[in-house]
Amino acid sequence: MLAASAVVGVRAQQSAGPAALRAEWPRTWKVEGIEILQVQKNIYMLAGAGGNVTIQVGDEGVAMVDSGSPGMAEKILAAVGQVTRKPVRFLINTNADPDHVAGNGPIVTASGGTRGPTADAAPAGAGGRPQNVGVLTIAHENAFNRLTAGIKGLPPITGDALPESTFFTPQKDFYSNGEGVQLFFQPKAHSDGDVMVFFRGSDVVSTGDVFRTDGYPVIDSAQGGSIQGELDALNSILDITIPERNQMGGTRVVPGHGHICNEADIVEYRDMVTIIRDRVRDLMKKGMTLQQVKAARPTLEYDGLYGRRKEWTGDMFIEAIYKDLSARK
Ligand SMILES: [Zn+2]
Repeated sequence: MLAASAVVGVRAQQSAGPAALRAEWPRTWKVEGIEILQVQKNIYMLAGAGGNVTIQVGDEGVAMVDSGSPGMAEKILAAVGQVTRKPVRFLINTNADPDHVAGNGPIVTASGGTRGPTADAAPAGAGGRPQNVGVLTIAHENAFNRLTAGIKGLPPITGDALPESTFFTPQKDFYSNGEGVQLFFQPKAHSDGDVMVFFRGSDVVSTGDVFRTDGYPVIDSAQGGSIQGELDALNSILDITIPERNQMGGTRVVPGHGHICNEADIVEYRDMVTIIRDRVRDLMKKGMTLQQVKAARPTLEYDGLYGRRKEWTGDMFIEAIYKDLSARK
């Protein structure tokens, strides 16, 4: 793990953009407007349906991470059908945002409905649905509670759309298609229900919205997010990732939004978030108001890369850090 350093600005300029990565990715195709990229071994990324969707494919079926925005489920399933004819068996929600969970219901229903957490223990064909049919949907308990209460942009979730298995421990794991799959809870980062999914055999981590290449991390304070939890989450990605050589290759990272990355990209992003947090904190120590901190432009050299989303601008990121640090004093 590299320390935060002054080279980050230069690194940001050199960062491989989507075009460069696409050239590096031989297996890329598009169906129904959804781009399908083979990330590494059994893992594929589906982009263009809201939050990135990650799928692990194999003889046992599909383990899916996130289910896209409202109205995208059919397209996601069509894209999955280009990779494998096997049904979806696991669905993990990395948070409770509409662009990560809206497809839950239609995808689970189309895949045979929900399957109880103990389904695999039942003898094949015993009572009710035959084995190998149905989906086990998994989310952190905090995300589950938000889904049942109703989230912004979606009514309370019920039926097949509701995760059947929840957890409140730091980790949860299961085995799928011959590889261990680990879920890591990230407390108070983007929200209070973030989960990262690590496919150990394929060496791919799907981060959800604690990491995104298209903008600053969204600290959703209304959903329990915090700047320190966000930095902790970025560091826990770095605990998992191992570069192959020259900082390239090795563990692949699928962000919540944006393009596939490797460890060097996470280091650069973590350093960017750290630098901006430190600047805001230093300006606050001088007694500056929120308006004065914003006017000092602590995100200046990063806005070209990360400040282009109108839903989450540099000013909004600064404000989230300011309010979080103020509340902590
Ligand atoms: Zn998202």
